[in-house]
Amino acid sequence: MSSTGQDATADEHQDAQDGKPVYLTLTRPRCPRCHSAHLRAYKTMDNGDDSLTRYSRCVDCGRRVVVIVE
Ligand SMILES: [Zn+2]
Repeated sequence: MSSTGQDATADEHQDAQDGKPVYLTLTRPRCPRCHSAHLRAYKTMDNGDDSLTRYSRCVDCGRRVVVIVE
């Protein structure tokens, strides 16, 4: 049985100055009408500059929203 019980923190060999992890919080895009975070993307376009345009629809109220992911 090959368990992956290895501690992830023990596997990091980063520079000492970069040793501490930084917590980043991503905020979910929400529907402007009903504030639901339940958006379903039906089309994603690459803008060619490391950003994405995601055409989505709110699952709860059907509002179409366009999400730009940078
Ligand atoms: Zn909605």
